[in-house]
Amino acid sequence: MSMLTPAVQRSTLGLHTLEQYEPLIGAAGVERIAAKANRLGTMRVAHISSTFYGGGVTELLTPLTLMMNASGIETDWHLIQGTPGFFGCTKKLHNTLQGERVEFSDAEKTIYEQVVFENAMRLHLEDCDAVIVHDPQPLPLIAHFPDRDMPWLWQCHVDLSSPYAPVWAYLRRFIGQYDAAIFSLPEYGQDLGGGQHFVTPAIDPFSAKNRELSAREIGEFLGNYKIPTDRPLVTQISRFDRWKDPTGVIEAFRKARQQVDCTLVLVGNNASDDPEGGKILEAIQSAADDGIIILSVDDPTLVNALQRSAAVVLQKSLREGFGLTVTEAMWKGAAVIGGNVGGIRHQIKDGWNGFLVDTPDQAADRIVRLLKDARLRRQIGSRARESVRQNFLMSRLLEDWLDLLSRYERRVA
Ligand code: UDP
Repeated sequence: MSMLTPAVQRSTLGLHTLEQYEPLIGAAGVERIAAKANRLGTMRVAHISSTFYGGGVTELLTPLTLMMNASGIETDWHLIQGTPGFFGCTKKLHNTLQGERVEFSDAEKTIYEQVVFENAMRLHLEDCDAVIVHDPQPLPLIAHFPDRDMPWLWQCHVDLSSPYAPVWAYLRRFIGQYDAAIFSLPEYGQDLGGGQHFVTPAIDPFSAKNRELSAREIGEFLGNYKIPTDRPLVTQISRFDRWKDPTGVIEAFRKARQQVDCTLVLVGNNASDDPEGGKILEAIQSAADDGIIILSVDDPTLVNALQRSAAVVLQKSLREGFGLTVTEAMWKGAAVIGGNVGGIRHQIKDGWNGFLVDTPDQAADRIVRLLKDARLRRQIGSRARESVRQNFLMSRLLEDWLDLLSRYERRVA
């Protein structure tokens, strides 16, 4: 007998199967990927990251781990714990990997390595056939598994185009112990001595954040947050983080509003491993005025409704590992203006399926152009959706991982 409540029968649950993708990628695509999953048989994989909540890594691992399980690969996801002091240190590492030039002191190294050691004591990975560690937070774990006999892979999700050399040299001591490193984009490749691979992120088109919404649902969700729709909406949905440049967004919006009246909605959740978010939020709240709505909430359906209803979606990042918010908005046929950096450049072809900008002035100019031209918005939006369908759906990410894991299969057998 089912243990589920009558309201939640299994048939109503999102099952995260490959078959769901058939209308999007075709039957041949589904068969090809399913055959690759079958070949890997009963492999056991463990992913390790620092937070279930917040930014892009969580967004990727949620559907990926579910799809891997639905495809027959036993996949766990472990979360490492940390103190605020630890997350202060790892945020600094994150910032230096993205190019900020600040030292990482010996005292910080001690906190970082001690907390990771404590997490290693609680992790039992003996039964795994492959371990995949995400981002710098859990990176030193590997040093505490000297007898490992399965491949360990480190996946880095940040913009690694110009890491700060002294900190990079420190982290390389750990990275060098892994069987391979995985980066989001070819330009983040590093001379590591060991193997490296590239896996571009993707989105789950069936999640609450990306599923189709009716006009009534969209109206309802915007209404819940008192977002007015009398003027066109311009939005940026991003962690409150300096690399996402919320102050540049406000500056661009103010310039654009002098020419076309519109409302700016800034939405941010707060990743539990990101200690800087509160300060950034305070700074932008003090800059807000009547036409600017700032929401600090974590509501995927609001994100969905906003990306579907905004006339313009901004992601004016100064650094961006990949930029899932761009993919999500493009999938909904939005006209997106992105910072001309990192992964955003791989998604937007300037003037074709969105715009790329370097300055607030350029962003203001593109906002005005888009607000004045509904046809341009529709044209750009439909090309945007098609480019996501071809390149950035979860089925493609699953296939990349199956290909990658099969390269390590001899060590699994
Ligand atoms: N996100 C969200 N609510 C917010 C802000 C962000 O759900 O208020 C999600 C966003 O939809 C995306 C992810 O967090 O899926 C952010 O990933 P991205 O690659 O854009 O940036 P990161 O936060 O990893 O730097």
